[in-house]
Amino acid sequence: MMADNITSGLFNQFVKAARSTTTTVTKKTGEIVEATKLKVAIADVENEVDSLYTEIGRLVYKAFSENGEPSETINEKCAVISEKLKDIELLKIKLAGVKDSVMCGECGAGNAPGSQFCSSCGAKLQ
Ligand SMILES: [Zn+2]
Repeated sequence: MMADNITSGLFNQFVKAARSTTTTVTKKTGEIVEATKLKVAIADVENEVDSLYTEIGRLVYKAFSENGEPSETINEKCAVISEKLKDIELLKIKLAGVKDSVMCGECGAGNAPGSQFCSSCGAKLQ
């Protein structure tokens, strides 16, 4: 019972402290959240592209091992990859446009303000 009171007291203090700093950091946090969302979206599409590469590799090998022609599906999958690579470029441009985002000199990825290293390639940021 006693412990519960102490815990909730500390929690209330924490909430109060958090509230008092929230207003000043909201804008910056919003930008970081936006940048993070975009980065997650980019990573998702990159993963999809990776699995398409894997599928294509499997289809090519299947054709090779059966002495057959690579199937139509490969062309379709390649077209999907091209579309997804375009999506990634657009997302990266959007990410770079997020205010104060730090553009990586190595790979061109946008990083959240205050980042020390690039989240895409790990290069040190200026
Ligand atoms: Zn980079």
